[in-house]
Amino acid sequence: MIWALSRQQALRLPSQLRCFSSAASRSAAEVKRLGVVGAGQMGLGIALVAALKAKVPVTLVDSSPQSLERGLSFAGKLLAKDVSKSRITQEEADEAWSRLTPTNLIEELGDVDFVIEAVPEIPQLKFDIFAKLADVCPPHAILATNTSSIPITRIAAATTSDPKDLSNSSRVVSTHFMNPVPVQKGVEIISGLQTSQETVDTAIAFCKAMGKIPSVSADSPGFLANRILMPYINEAVVCLETGVGDRDAIDAIMKNGTNVPMGPLQLADFIGLDTCLAIMKVLHTETGDSKYRPSVLLSKMVDAGWLGKKSGKGFYDY
Ligand code: NAD
Repeated sequence: MIWALSRQQALRLPSQLRCFSSAASRSAAEVKRLGVVGAGQMGLGIALVAALKAKVPVTLVDSSPQSLERGLSFAGKLLAKDVSKSRITQEEADEAWSRLTPTNLIEELGDVDFVIEAVPEIPQLKFDIFAKLADVCPPHAILATNTSSIPITRIAAATTSDPKDLSNSSRVVSTHFMNPVPVQKGVEIISGLQTSQETVDTAIAFCKAMGKIPSVSADSPGFLANRILMPYINEAVVCLETGVGDRDAIDAIMKNGTNVPMGPLQLADFIGLDTCLAIMKVLHTETGDSKYRPSVLLSKMVDAGWLGKKSGKGFYDY
């Protein structure tokens, strides 16, 4: 079963199943322009850090003009805050700002060397976007996804109608950044069965150029970070719905007892309850293991449109 294979195990597959051929073989220095698709909390953070730390021009695509405007205004505030706290100079902030090119059109990614997709965690939406990226981006460009849980092998498969043709699927990889991107150093690098080693190497090099610390994990449900984090958050919601503790007790004991900056319910609000639910559903359906069953309360809150910080209401009001 593909899910159970680590990259090392995958490399022990018969040679006809291994994927070493690739059009994509570039170092971080050869990434002259980045594309980011989705200007929500993750895409915006990725674009900003790439402009600031890797110093590359970024084409930032969002299909929603309102989201794009909101994202840019947030980027401006983050830069101003960094200047006011003397973390960067005004000149560095101005340069980073000037490197961001916003657009509503994915077709404008025709000159990028690396693109990172950060649209909502909806499988078909990602598949459609990757099919489009394979068409629009230059043949050498790396096509990366920020998915929290959707199999990379499946996303890569969406780039081609002929599974034997690896020219597009070998350049698909996951760069799974952590939230908030400007603060968190970790990034998970995950390859699909089709991903070439050159693609992985370029992704690692580029993430390092962004000041991040990459960890490699297998294309397995939830990868590493969410395989561990989401059942923790889900269990906190189950504790709330079954009355083991109230919101404040749950967050306080985990915050004060494990020395984390926020409790699991507040963290869920910051991640987005829709994203948390989507990841739990993937863990549950892909493993078939009932221990990953999403909390009923979590599902109901998403039904109500209470998505956490981004919608103004979640376990807390914003
Ligand atoms: P978000 O809802 O804040 O932002 C998504 C953005 O994508 C929105 O601005 C939306 O307008 C835009 N969008 C939707 N359809 C589009 C399309 N067809 N073309 C271009 N733009 C489109 O979501 P987010 O929290 O930034 O999450 C994005 C991805 O990152 C998801 O896959 C999520 O699982 C993953 N992720 C999220 C977190 C987190 O803590 N929120 C952490 C790691 C990874």
